[in-house]
Amino acid sequence: MAERECGFAPLVFRLHGGAPQVVREVLLERGWEEYDEEEQEEGDWNLYWRSSGFRNSDYENILPWQRLNHHPKMSQITRKDCLARHMRRMKIAFGTALYDFSPAAFILPNEYRKFLGVYNRNRTTDRGKSRFWICKPVDLSRGRGIFLFEDIKDLVYDSSVIVQRYISNPLLISGYKFDLRIYVCVKSFSPLVIYMHQEGLVRFATEKYTLASLDSLYSHLTNTSINKFGMCYAMDKERVGRGCKWTMSRFRSFLHKQDVNEVLLWHRISNIVTLTLLTAIPCIPSSPNCLELLGFDILIDASYKPWLLEVNHSPALSLDCPADVTVKKGLINDIIDLMNYKMIDSFRQKGYCRKRSGSRYLRPKISNGFLLPKILHAPPSGNKSWNQSVSGSSSSQDTRSNTGYATCSVHLNSKSTGHEKDPQKLYDEINDEVGSDDLKLTTFNSTRQSHRNTPSIVCKLPSLRVHKLKSPAVPWNRVTQDRGVPPCRVGDFILTFPFNEATWKASQDQADVKAITNEVHKLTNRLVSSFKEKERTKMESSQSIGSRDKFEPLLWGPKDPPLLSKCCSLNSEVK
Ligand code: ADP
Repeated sequence: MAERECGFAPLVFRLHGGAPQVVREVLLERGWEEYDEEEQEEGDWNLYWRSSGFRNSDYENILPWQRLNHHPKMSQITRKDCLARHMRRMKIAFGTALYDFSPAAFILPNEYRKFLGVYNRNRTTDRGKSRFWICKPVDLSRGRGIFLFEDIKDLVYDSSVIVQRYISNPLLISGYKFDLRIYVCVKSFSPLVIYMHQEGLVRFATEKYTLASLDSLYSHLTNTSINKFGMCYAMDKERVGRGCKWTMSRFRSFLHKQDVNEVLLWHRISNIVTLTLLTAIPCIPSSPNCLELLGFDILIDASYKPWLLEVNHSPALSLDCPADVTVKKGLINDIIDLMNYKMIDSFRQKGYCRKRSGSRYLRPKISNGFLLPKILHAPPSGNKSWNQSVSGSSSSQDTRSNTGYATCSVHLNSKSTGHEKDPQKLYDEINDEVGSDDLKLTTFNSTRQSHRNTPSIVCKLPSLRVHKLKSPAVPWNRVTQDRGVPPCRVGDFILTFPFNEATWKASQDQADVKAITNEVHKLTNRLVSSFKEKERTKMESSQSIGSRDKFEPLLWGPKDPPLLSKCCSLNSEVK
């Protein structure tokens, strides 16, 4: 029997049609239950997973024990035209040197003239730059509608597209082009907290790379959705093998045998992720109960420079081959761990369990169009009516503390289900689990309980804000509050941002993007200079410097990620 996530009622997940099967599989294996629309109340779930985005009302009505798998407004970086616009803005604001990982792109038809200027200049003067361009519909994915061209007379389009400089010198493995699918989890945007997964996928084209034929999509595109229909897909290809995917671990072993500074390569990729996500910060409303899994597509060129091709919303989680199974199952498990479900989340279910088991203490109905789950059951008789207390009338103040918390009671009526825990034990367990003052349970001593002879516990819940796109006042991600720093590693997820106290501070509230880009720049310079000098003494001194910082960041990428402080000095000045 699968082990339960928490000690109380099983956690409940809700999948929207089209959500990946692997999510269901992993959650069931972990002892979760699937939400049943017919049987359960509307808010009786802990995780809602959708492939498409959520509606505003989903964010507005979210309850403290619930998580959503998307932040709002993610199209700001996952739509090709929006990303191109942001990249250009950042290049202007922070310099092309820092944002040189994104190939120049033009949004057509609007920027046709601009493109024409660059195209003509390119033909005559821009030596060393690719003469080739790639045209992609702005809102399609999986390689649909993409084509390459060298001559502008071949540029034909009937919808909004971006034309991007084609990276024509990709790193090849036995003549095959590939790109990296890197899984990134944004745990929060305010403050910005980024985790990158150690495992990922390498996606190969299935025909050998050649610029002689721009029409061959099997040679130029690395999308699995295209290559799985290629003639050579099932063939055993030199070094690449069958199919069109490797795990990142296999790529790491390949890289290890090359004459390349691996640490710097991984670090550059992690910089790309941070700098790209920074562009979105001003556009994404704070939504603490959300988490985003993104797929970053990174192409490495023949000089080992990584390029950002695009950012995928809801990256494919289908299990098409053994590499998928290895990578994606672990990934989902680690995401659930990152969501940090606590016993308190399971405890919330208790209110609903009563209803299912026929208890008289029911969860309140929706009032005024909002879920206001301040109390999980009707108040005892003789007190003001439940409706009064949730509808925002003056008497409702009685149930809300001035600190912004509401009071929630859960009655342990032994007649109701017959298998509740001893109330004092339950109370102790929950307090141990919550471990923090703002969510602690207190014994409910009200006289109104005594006449009922019903043991009772009161739980202070964070109050709900009903502003547009605002989530509960207290984030589920407790470590992202000022009090502590996020853990450096959760499963195979490595914390890549923030990476020191300066970036931690700069990303609070209104993120100081300038200060953050400075820190990113400094860190890269330090890594580069550390490698150049290879001074042992410097390495040693850096270890003590690192330990003074609250952060002990790991370097994302290598198999056993070393401390970043072992790769360079994090606090010393750049020379
Ligand atoms: P889609 O969302 O349709 O997958 P992408 O931007 O990811 O669109 O492009 C699909 C594929 O085309 C990539 O996986 C990559 O192999 C190739 N590609 C895209 N842009 C470039 C580029 N600028 N240079 C080289 N190859 C590219």
